Amino acid sequence: MDQVTVITGCAIATVDSRGTEYREGYVVIRGNRIDAVGAGEPPEPVAGAQGIRRIDGSGCLLTPGLVNTHHHLYQWITRGLAADNTLFEWLTTLYPIWAGIDEDAVRVAATGALAALARTGCTTTTDHHYVFPREGGDLLGAEITAAAEVGLRFHPCRGSMDLGASAGGLPPDHVVESLDAILAASAEAVARWHDPSFDAMVRIALAPCSPFSVTPELLRESAALAREVGVRLHTHLAETIDEQDYCAQTFGCTPAQYMEQLGWLGPDVWYAHAVHLDDAAIETMAGTGTGVAHCPTSNARLGAGVARIADLVRAGVPVGLGVDGAASNEASSMIEEPRNALLWARNRGGPRAMTVRTALELATMGGARVLGRAAEIGSIEVGKLADLALWRLDTAAHAGIEDPVVALLLGSPPPLAALLVNGREVVREGEVRTVAMDTVATEVAQAQVALRAKAG
Ligand SMILES: [Zn+2]
Repeated sequence: MDQVTVITGCAIATVDSRGTEYREGYVVIRGNRIDAVGAGEPPEPVAGAQGIRRIDGSGCLLTPGLVNTHHHLYQWITRGLAADNTLFEWLTTLYPIWAGIDEDAVRVAATGALAALARTGCTTTTDHHYVFPREGGDLLGAEITAAAEVGLRFHPCRGSMDLGASAGGLPPDHVVESLDAILAASAEAVARWHDPSFDAMVRIALAPCSPFSVTPELLRESAALAREVGVRLHTHLAETIDEQDYCAQTFGCTPAQYMEQLGWLGPDVWYAHAVHLDDAAIETMAGTGTGVAHCPTSNARLGAGVARIADLVRAGVPVGLGVDGAASNEASSMIEEPRNALLWARNRGGPRAMTVRTALELATMGGARVLGRAAEIGSIEVGKLADLALWRLDTAAHAGIEDPVVALLLGSPPPLAALLVNGREVVREGEVRTVAMDTVATEVAQAQVALRAKAG
């Protein structure tokens, strides 16, 4: 018998295609799926039945769990460095430190980063891991173990770099791999972990790092492999003006044109950032269904620019939100991304550039579309997976705010009364329940010191 859970007495923003909301309603969960959602009290026999887990949602807003479409979990133990630098300066400071990571460091960092995501409403996250030191061990396996422990739905990307400094790339030679080694490891990762099923807790994508750290051959071959084995493709693109200049000088075109030449367009592709796009690039991406992971906090932290998100959404490009790596977003707070997306969009495009509800949609359904999970997650609808965030809005900071969705996005980030992932309770009353947070903090602090010592 599947466990039945019922959440009652909360406001609900379903983020379904009609934007259905309830001022006070309920959700019934059977096993890992949503069984019923509606206004008022749940119907009999659920209302009075025995053996049911009950969550009192009074004073709360229930939303779909947030979907994080871009991250570098390992950076959780390299936060607070190069805080006042450009992207290229920041990268060249951090590459030598990142070169020291190993399996244990990645497990500790990923646990800390994933717990921070859970505490801020995230139920599904991707990760883009592209630093594989030769003696590092099983880094992807370490973060997949961490995600299972914390309890988040996880889409790790097998990242890669094959263009070292001696060949004109930005990363030092000792953190890049050969094309053959990358393709073999990518195929192995898919065979070992990728789960195409509806309920999947782990799905793999392939993700060469960026135009200035990989060869065109790696981009082309990765796309061919991904399409052969049926997984998605991800990379950084058009993040900064420096990257635009690099592409103009090296390839004689824009970053978007470069990716188009290499077959990196389609509904199976999503780019992180996509800040510097011209009208033609937006039109091409919309026409091909190529998605974007918009990372407003990281873009601001690095002064990269303000992405044309209102234009991308209007054109029909799938847009999700991402915290980006913790080294360029020390908080990695998922609930702050829709707020920052909204503020940045309005500052760029005026008061009507983005509504509050569009911002919530980007953080939920938008992310689900970008990750190819629109049928399974991203909204509260019968038959979908039970990935839900119950936000407490009866605190002194939020009580009395007229509209609960506005309170969530424009009020201070509220605590979670509960976070359910695949029907499992991961957070309760603001605390992550799946891992011991005091141990996580101690291990993170030790791993950070050890990694800095290694870099000298
Ligand atoms: Zn990134």
